[in-house]
Order: sequence, then structure tokens, then C-alpha cells
Amino acid sequence: MNSLWDAIVIGAGFSGLNAARTLRSHGKNALVLEARDRVGGRTKHGQIAGLDIDLGGMWLAPSQTRLFALADTMGIGRYPTFLKGKSVLSMAGKQGVVNGEDFTQLLSLREKIQAYLLLRKLNHLLSTVNDADPWNSVNSSELDSLSVEAWLCKATGSERLRALIRVICASVFCAEAPQVSMLFFLVYLKGGGGLEAMISADEGGGQNLLFHGGVHQIARNMAQELGDHLHLNEAVHSIDVSSTEAVVATGLAQYRAKRVIVAVPPTLMNRINITPPLPSAQAALHNRVNMGSVIKFWVAYPTPFWRQQGFNGSIVRDDKPASPCFDVSPPDSPLGLIAGFFEADHAVHIGDSSKEQRREHVVDMLAEHFGEQALNPVDYVDEDWTQEEWSKGCYGAFAPPGVMTHYGEWIRTPHHTIHWAGTETATEWAGYIEGALQAGERAAREVLEGLANDQ
Ligand SMILES: Cc1cc2nc3c(=O)[nH]c(=O)nc-3n(C[C@H](O)[C@H](O)[C@H](O)COP(=O)(O)OP(=O)(O)OC[C@H]3O[C@@H](n4cnc5c(N)ncnc54)[C@H](O)[C@@H]3O)c2cc1C
Repeated sequence: MNSLWDAIVIGAGFSGLNAARTLRSHGKNALVLEARDRVGGRTKHGQIAGLDIDLGGMWLAPSQTRLFALADTMGIGRYPTFLKGKSVLSMAGKQGVVNGEDFTQLLSLREKIQAYLLLRKLNHLLSTVNDADPWNSVNSSELDSLSVEAWLCKATGSERLRALIRVICASVFCAEAPQVSMLFFLVYLKGGGGLEAMISADEGGGQNLLFHGGVHQIARNMAQELGDHLHLNEAVHSIDVSSTEAVVATGLAQYRAKRVIVAVPPTLMNRINITPPLPSAQAALHNRVNMGSVIKFWVAYPTPFWRQQGFNGSIVRDDKPASPCFDVSPPDSPLGLIAGFFEADHAVHIGDSSKEQRREHVVDMLAEHFGEQALNPVDYVDEDWTQEEWSKGCYGAFAPPGVMTHYGEWIRTPHHTIHWAGTETATEWAGYIEGALQAGERAAREVLEGLANDQ
């Protein structure tokens, strides 16, 4: 066995990388062990028509201050998602074009009133949810006993609004409304600043800004700072914290550390053999949350020709699998780029078809709205995150009914000298890159306190 590390961090996604960065900035020596042959986890570099793109996480909201600050220190600039003009919207059998993101243009007067009432109910519930310990919120048991679908059917009689919330649920969790706990849905929305902020690509929204060259560069730069204190291709199989020194084992070696940070998705935490075993409730939490299902696609055209027709490239349809999609063309390139998603059940089912068939779904839908020019893209790429061994789905983990109130309180509870990071353990923007950074920072602070107390 080799030298004693202050901390070993498992996972070189944004969370693990930020944990290591925080520890190093406090003079601690930290080793990062990563299963893949690359860093970035659920963010990933790709290329389309010669341009660098993100095959995983990509957008930034202006309120995501940690990610903003990191990008600034690295001189990585941003540009807004293109929203000028008409979006295509189709919900519960009614299709239309609306200005920007104003979905209310598709609604009748009666539905507008119903939408107002539904939003008021949601916002009231949001105000009752505690972000850090939601299982202690008023009505937590009742809300956690319901799926989003069950709540929705009680909350509104409008089929169109139900369809809209189902689409939002699929877009946020990559899971269907009957699969997600209503309490979990609310906690998530609260952590992202509310429903409008979370789903919007407009100013202040979760899909507002893109990084020139892609967000994956930030992870790569953070990894470069670590030098040889980062080992790729070393999946951790076991952690033994039964004595004062933790022993972390990979297929290649065993490492000793005073503290360990596990910065992997909760569904992968239970693949690591831990001694002594986790308390049953904590193991149950890791076993009972699920990862969403998503395939992200990109299509490239010589120009963003839909703009000439007054479209902004956004399409949100509940009757097509390749939805939503957005115009993400970088301003410094002549190319027109559309990025979008097969989400939730659409991703599950279409994952079995070939890439060529998925491409057809995408270009056929684009041609339906933007004309025949859309049938001949210069390039198409997609990435099926359900097939990634070290993610097992995306964007993040979600809790089905009953999990949060029964086991949620264990999400950040250290186990001996093991601390938990990863975006799912964040209290702000959980499921997003910002949440990953926050969680890494918090876990590093716990380790710093632990090391100080050990002395
Ligand atoms: C298609 C897609 C689109 C998204 N869009 C956005 C977006 O626009 N904006 C946004 O903010 N977020 C987005 N997200 C979510 C965002 O990418 C994630 O929330 C974030 O990257 C999670 O970071 P993390 O460090 O917590 O986890 P991860 O990135 O999953 O990192 C965990 C790391 O641990 C490694 N690992 C797992 N098990 C082991 C083991 N046993 N031993 C060693 N290493 C292990 C994994 O290989 C991985 O590298 C998107 C995700 C996807 C997939």
C-alpha cells in the first residue's frame, strides 16, 4: 500500500473535481479516482460538423454563481440560447406557434384561468417545502405519497395543462409523471428557483446560456490542475472505514486516506462494497432512487435557415419523441445547430432503434415545421445516456413516491469517514452542474472540519 492521503475523492465529475479543488485550496492532498477514461461524468465532449459540442450537461442559468465564477477564472465566455421569433408548441391535440416561450397563447380563456389557478397552487406548495430537509415540511407525508400524475389529476381538470406538466416532468427528470414523487418534484423546483426559472430558456432560466466551446472544457481544466493526483480507468470496488484510516480499493491498487468523498450518482453508490455496511435506511435510499432516461441529439445545417422563416428553432410537442429541441447555434459559426432530447419513456423505447432511425424521427419533425431543407442536415450525432455504464441514466436521480419521507434524511449523512457528494446531494440546483459544484464544496468542507477535529 502507498502513502496516506488526506482525502480520496471517488468520481471525477464536476462534484468530485470541485471537492478536490476545494481541499487543495486549503492545502490538503487529495487523490481523485475515476472509473472512466475521461473526466466530466455526465458532461462530455463531442463534435458535430467539426464543432466542439456538449453531449451531456450544457446550459447555465445566470443564478448559477459557482459555474459562472469557474468559467470566468478560465476565460470561457457564454452566449444566450436563441429565442427571437416563434416557437412550435403542441399539447393534448392542439398545435400552434407562440412568441418566444409564451405557452399561454395556445390556451383558451378558460384554460388560462385554470393555468393561473394551477400555478398558484404549485407556488403555494413550493412556499411550504423546506429545501434542506424537505421530509420535515408541512404535508410532506401526503405530498410524498402522491406521484406528480396523481397530484395533477386532483389539481386541475384541464387535459391540456396536465399534458404540459407531464412534458415538464419528463423534461426535468427524464421520467414520467406517474413515476416521480410530488414532494421530490417540489423540492427540485424549489432548488432551481421555481417552475418558471427551471424550465425557461429566457433571461434567468435554466436553459438561458451556453458556453463557447462547451461546458466540458471546465471539467478538463479542473482535471489538469490535479496533475497526477487524478487516476483515470480506476473504478473503486470497495471502501473499508472500519479503522481510523480508510482503505479504498480499485482493480489496480489499494489506497489509504483519512477521509473519503463519494461523488457518484446514488444508484452507483451501492455498487461499491462498503465496510462496515451502510445503515439499512441509507442503503435503501441508494437502492430506491432511479436514474432518468435520456438520449441527447444534435443536428447541424449549413445555416440556421428556420430563422429566416421567423422561427427560433424551439419545438415542444407531447406527440413526438424528439422533443424538446432548441436552436443552440454558436454566434461565431455560420452553422445552424439544433439540440434536443428523447426523454423518459421516449428514450426507453427509441433506445432500441438504430441511430439512423432516431435521426429520421428528428429530421422529419424539423421538416414538418421548417420545410424540406431540414431533411438534409450536414451532420447528426446522439448520445444514449441509459447505455453509459458509469451513469446508468440521466440527467439525475429521482425519487418515486414514499422514498424521500422514509429515507431522504440519509442523503448527506456521513458514514464513519465517508462523505457524500454528487449533484443529487445538493440543496440548490440538484441534478444540475451547479448542484454538483455545491455538493462537492459542502463535502469538502465536512472533510476539512473532520480533519481539524481528528488532530
Ligand atoms: C444529456 C444531459 C443533459 C444535461 N443538461 C444539463 C444542463 O444543460 N445543465 C446542467 O446544469 N446540467 C445538465 N445535466 C446534468 C449534469 O450534467 C449533471 O447534473 C452533473 O454533470 C453531475 O455531476 P456529478 O459530478 O454530480 O456526477 P457525474 O457527472 O455523474 O460524475 C460522477 C463520476 O463518478 C464516476 N464513477 C461512478 N462510479 C465510480 C466508481 N465506482 N469508481 C470511480 N468512479 C466512479 C463516473 O464515471 C463519473 O465520472 C445534463 C445531463 C445530461 C446527461
